[in-house]
Amino acid sequence: MCIVTQALPEETMAGTGKDSDQAKRFSSKKCHECFAYIPLEATICPSCGKKVGEIDKNGIAVKPTNWIAYAIAALAWGGFIFYLFLLGWAEPIKDFLPHLLDWVKEAGIYLWLLVTGIVDWFIESWASLLEWLVNGWKDFMSDIS
Ligand SMILES: [Zn+2]
Repeated sequence: MCIVTQALPEETMAGTGKDSDQAKRFSSKKCHECFAYIPLEATICPSCGKKVGEIDKNGIAVKPTNWIAYAIAALAWGGFIFYLFLLGWAEPIKDFLPHLLDWVKEAGIYLWLLVTGIVDWFIESWASLLEWLVNGWKDFMSDIS
């Protein structure tokens, strides 16, 4: 358990330059992953072991962009698509796309019917509830008069 108080932004303290660097306003930063207070210069959170970057304006260490992961993902997708082309799937995929569009259009129609159906059901339920209330009120009034 470590309790480190995070200094308030210096704006609350009198007479400090407003052009001061963001990082200088805090004495520590917060881990984006586990929210532990960590030293400003830390690049790895001592609490959870995640990589942490620069401090943001809220005093939280930003998550560094994992470019290697993005690069690997892009390469993997590129390789997969290339593999499909190698398998000779380029033509089948081109033939298949218009059908996919048709299906999307058809699905859109069903979605529209579903939405309008729900709206209809809602309005009808509301109308019958109002009718029930009005009739109940009329019965009540005729009973007491
Ligand atoms: Zn952490």
